[in-house]
Amino acid sequence: MEYIGKVFRPPSEARSLIIQCTIGCSHNKCAFCGMYKEDEFRIRPLDDVLRDLEEMSRYGQVYRRIFLADGDALILPMEHLKTLLTKIAELFPKVERVGIYASPKSIATKTVEQLKELKELGLGIAYLGVESGSDLILEMMKKGVSAEELLHQGQKLKDAGIDLSVTLISGLGGKEHTLEHATESAKFISTLQPNYLGLLTLMLEPQTELYQDIQQGRFELLTPSEVLEETRLFVSLVEGKDIVFRSNHASNYLSLGGVLDQEKQRILKDIDEAMEDMQYLRHESHRRL
Ligand code: SF4
Repeated sequence: MEYIGKVFRPPSEARSLIIQCTIGCSHNKCAFCGMYKEDEFRIRPLDDVLRDLEEMSRYGQVYRRIFLADGDALILPMEHLKTLLTKIAELFPKVERVGIYASPKSIATKTVEQLKELKELGLGIAYLGVESGSDLILEMMKKGVSAEELLHQGQKLKDAGIDLSVTLISGLGGKEHTLEHATESAKFISTLQPNYLGLLTLMLEPQTELYQDIQQGRFELLTPSEVLEETRLFVSLVEGKDIVFRSNHASNYLSLGGVLDQEKQRILKDIDEAMEDMQYLRHESHRRL
């Protein structure tokens, strides 16, 4: 099986078979992201991907989940996606869920009816990097989209019955906009009501634009205690109905998780206890992207 560039996948796809359908990210401009900087975005030829699926099916390993990579694979043309999902169902009859990275740009290329067709063919979950619910921060980070457009495109996935997993990044507003980041992100999530919510913490690689901004004093990273304060404010404000919340990525200082709103008070208590005794936080040298 072929794989060009580095493999990135959501934490919940750790045991999935990862099939590369696109190379890189079709946007590739976010100021904080260094994931696909070395790769020019392109769609892999369909025959190559089908060949990979056939090769993997011959090993006889049972997969419950398959993840279609790289960034933004939902941008593949409809016929291309339908062929892939049909082939997956034929070659891997035990697969329960196919996952994919989506972006507002790629969701916009599909109608709700088309998304429903993909759902029928096995597309069970889409991962959408929202990063912040604040227009100001989305613009600063060159996300290329407003919060309203993100809401609209995310809602289309929900209307199609595809599970929606949204990611936000703690600290993305820096010291200057931490309040705005927490409050606007809480409003965004309360409106969209994704099925899953992942909260990462900002970490930067030297090749990113935001790293250069920090070096030149244009952006100030939050301290670990400021990250916790921001997270506390966000969690206290968000109104969720059965949203599975996870903040247990290697970039996070503190591992948190629970169902919003049922477990909100316990999550807030976990944050308060960590703020009283910071020794339980992940050490800076142990954080990873
Ligand atoms: S954060 Fe997502 S959309 Fe932005 S450049 Fe990175 S992979 Fe592309």
